[in-house]
Amino acid sequence: MSYDPDERRDTPLARKLKERIRRDGPISVAEYMRACLQDPEHGYYRKAPAIGAGADFITAPEISQVFGELIGLWCAVVWQEIGSPEKLNLVELGPGRGTLLRDALRAARRVPAFERAVSVFLVETSEPLRAVQRETLSGAVVSVGWLTETASLHELADQPCMVLGNEFLDTLPASQIVRTEHGWRERGVALDTAGGLVFCTIEREEGDLGGVDNGEPGAVRERRSFEPLLAALAGRPPVAALFIDYGHVRTSPGDTLQAVRGHRAEHPLSGPGEADLTVQVDFEAFSVAARAASFAIDGPVTQAEFLGSLGIMQRASRLMAANPAKAAAIETGVARLMSPTGMGSRFKVIGVRSLNLPPLPGFAALPNSD
Ligand code: SAH
Repeated sequence: MSYDPDERRDTPLARKLKERIRRDGPISVAEYMRACLQDPEHGYYRKAPAIGAGADFITAPEISQVFGELIGLWCAVVWQEIGSPEKLNLVELGPGRGTLLRDALRAARRVPAFERAVSVFLVETSEPLRAVQRETLSGAVVSVGWLTETASLHELADQPCMVLGNEFLDTLPASQIVRTEHGWRERGVALDTAGGLVFCTIEREEGDLGGVDNGEPGAVRERRSFEPLLAALAGRPPVAALFIDYGHVRTSPGDTLQAVRGHRAEHPLSGPGEADLTVQVDFEAFSVAARAASFAIDGPVTQAEFLGSLGIMQRASRLMAANPAKAAAIETGVARLMSPTGMGSRFKVIGVRSLNLPPLPGFAALPNSD
């Protein structure tokens, strides 16, 4: 994307970063992302990220209630498959407006013993969003608690744990390396002669960048550190986790750093702290990291395959029959979640489970249609 200097907004975080770079030198893309998303004063995810129809971006649970309902039923089935434990932590990472959990808990009311077993924990960095979640879940009949960071997951009681993360993995900062004529270099952010933010390469020992293949000059590779999250989940009683995100099944080259504000893409350097900033999720790298942390993996499959195997069409038709006035809206929402050229294929679902658990539902090979 071209970077029109006139589009640079002098946001409070831009000023803070420029001062830091002037003082300490260029910062890596990962440090830039971390600041944009989590700066304690100005980070995008410390304020109230704008999630919803008229906001910066819209997510699956905000599109259709069927999404959260199916995941709620999925949770109840997994709970049964792990032996219906009397106590279970149900954790959602990055719950946004709390809509997924509200719909999930409503659907799971059909399994009262599950409801009795569940304690819900929401892991959320944004104080304003925690307030929205409290409001959304005010009618919940189960206990609901909050944590402000994934590192605190260690504090949860030692009991079986289910974890949900829709559009959470993409919020973890990623680094980029770029192939120069001198080899691979870390990509960073510096100041141009006019004092504006620009991409640069940072001199660093090649060894620090890890082993990488050759690449054409200008080629970009992205890496994200999933290890702290996986370490926070590892080493406890059974864990079954579900992550849904946009990304690729195999590690693939290329620059996917993207800023989105008001449903529109903008240059990643133009409004630090005021736009959502992401790098696509590399599900192959995530699987490798999860296996190294002693988990088994199910999938990834596409969102359409996952929701299809959980019976989204049947659930939608029952809902439409019961609410004729809402039928058109339900149909549109479900079509959007399943779209073969949109969310249905761009979003992938991956299951992560302790080695002693059976494969998670929704990931079995799909029956051949012919
Ligand atoms: N799951 C929601 C929201 C996705 S947006 C939905 O599908 O609608 C990402 C969410 O993760 C937001 O709630 C954001 O505030 C939260 N978040 C971002 N970084 C986080 C972090 N490091 N720890 C916990 N929550 C985080």
